[in-house]
Amino acid sequence: MANVLVLLSDLQSGRSSSAVEVRLLRFWEARNVRRSGELMGVDMLLLDSQSTMMPATVNVNRLATHLTNLEEGSVYSLTGFEVTHCNQNYRLSDSSLLIRFTDSTSFKKVTEPAVPIPLESFRFRNYSEMLGLANSNNQLPDLIGEITAVKSTVTDPPQDKNRVMATIRMDNDMSVTMSLFDAQAVKIHNQLEQIGVDPRVVVATSVNPKIVGGRLFLNATSGTHIYFDKQTDAGERLFYRLVERDTGLPPVAPLLKSYAKMEKLSISELNDFVVTATSQEIDFICAGKVTGVKLDKGWCYVSCSKCFKKLQRSVSSLTCLSCNNTSAVGVLRYRVEMSIADETGEGLFVAFDGVIAKLHNMRAHEAANLLAGDDVNPEKTDAPPFVRDMEGKSYTFQVKVGPYNFTANHQSFTISRILGEGERAPQPEFVEDGGDDDNGDDNGDDNDGAGLVRRKMKDGGCSKSAGPSAKSKKARKA
Ligand SMILES: [Zn+2]
Repeated sequence: MANVLVLLSDLQSGRSSSAVEVRLLRFWEARNVRRSGELMGVDMLLLDSQSTMMPATVNVNRLATHLTNLEEGSVYSLTGFEVTHCNQNYRLSDSSLLIRFTDSTSFKKVTEPAVPIPLESFRFRNYSEMLGLANSNNQLPDLIGEITAVKSTVTDPPQDKNRVMATIRMDNDMSVTMSLFDAQAVKIHNQLEQIGVDPRVVVATSVNPKIVGGRLFLNATSGTHIYFDKQTDAGERLFYRLVERDTGLPPVAPLLKSYAKMEKLSISELNDFVVTATSQEIDFICAGKVTGVKLDKGWCYVSCSKCFKKLQRSVSSLTCLSCNNTSAVGVLRYRVEMSIADETGEGLFVAFDGVIAKLHNMRAHEAANLLAGDDVNPEKTDAPPFVRDMEGKSYTFQVKVGPYNFTANHQSFTISRILGEGERAPQPEFVEDGGDDDNGDDNGDDNDGAGLVRRKMKDGGCSKSAGPSAKSKKARKA
C-alpha cells in the first residue's frame, strides 16, 4: 500500500503512515556533553516544497542503517516515521514538531521530487533580533554577515581545547563575535588556511546568542554549519551587495590570525579574550589612561618574605598560612589596583611590587618610611603621592593573563611591567618574565632584604609591623 504524500505542515504527533518528500539541508552528530561526548545519534534539518523546515533525529542504534545514505542537499522520500514535539529550547526551526526515525523508517533518495523543493532555507535574524533572543536559549537562529577578522587559538597539531573568534559585521554595521569551539574551531581554521582568497561573507546556522559583559556573542552549536561567500544563494547576494558598496582597495592583511604572545590588544579585546578564549597563559601589550587608582584595598601589603603571600596579622604575630609559619618575617610590597581605559573600553588592573618600584624608583618600605615613619602600620597609611598621581597618566604596559583570569573569580588583570617612556613593546623572542604577582611564583631575586620587617613586641604585648629600622635589622642578624 502506497503512503499518501503529505506536507510537513500536515504532520501531527504520533506514528505517521504518510510519506513526505524533503530536502536534507544539514545533519550533524548529537553528542551527550554530560557523558563525555557519547554519541547519541544524528540530528538533521529537513525542508519541504512549501519551505517548511522540521528537525529530525536518528537514534544511535539506527545509524548503521541510515548514515551512509545521508547526503546534504539531496532530496528524500521519507516514510515509516514517528512525529513528536521537539524540545522547546534551542529551537532549530519554527516548527514545534520533530520527526523521529524508527525501525521501519525508509529514507530513500529521490531524483525527481513531485514538487520542486527550494535549495536552501535560513532563519536569519538581524542584530537587534539577536539581542532580543540573547540568553533566552529559545531559538538557534542563523547568522549572515561580513567576516572582518578571525582570531584563532588553533595550533598545529591541534591541542585539546580550541577556540576561534570571528568578528562578523551584521546589518547597520554592528559587529558581533562568533565563537566556535573545539572540532568546529579546528575545521574553520583549516578552511580559512586552505582557502585561496579570504572570504567576505559568512553564513552560520543555528547559533546561540549570548550577552556576556554587555556584548553580544553568537556561540556555535553542534548544529552550526559555516558557509562562505557563494556557497549559498543568500551569501552570494550579500557578497555582491558588498562588492557594489566597495570604495577602496581590498584589505591586505589576512583574515586569520593567531594570538601571538605579546600582541597588542585593546582593552575591550582583552576583556573579550578572557570570556571567549580557552584558559591559557599569555602576555599582551595594552595601552591606556589610568581613570582611577583604587585605594579601598590600600596600596601595599605585608607579605611573607619566603613566599610573598599576604601575611595574616594577629595581636602579636604575623602568620603565613601558605608556609604554615606563625612567626613569619614580613616584607612590605606594593599592590596598586587601578582602572585603565582606552577608546574601546575600561578594565581593572593590578600592579605588584616590582612594577611599581621600578616605575617610581622606590621600594614600598622606603615609601612607607617617608610617609609615616617606623611605628605605623603601613598597610593603613595613605598611598604615597606618586601612586595617587598615576591617575590621569597614560601607560603602555604588559599584561600577564593566566588561568585565574578565565575563572568566575576574575576581577583584575595583572600588569607585569610598565614600559618606560619611548620604550618599544618587546619582541616575542625577548620576553622577560619580570612580573610580580601574588601567585607566589616570584623567584624573589629582586628582594635585597632591606625591606624585611620583623614583628616588634611593644609595651603591653601589642605588635606593629613597620619599615626597617636599626633595631629590626639587628634583631634579624642576631
Ligand atoms: Zn610564606
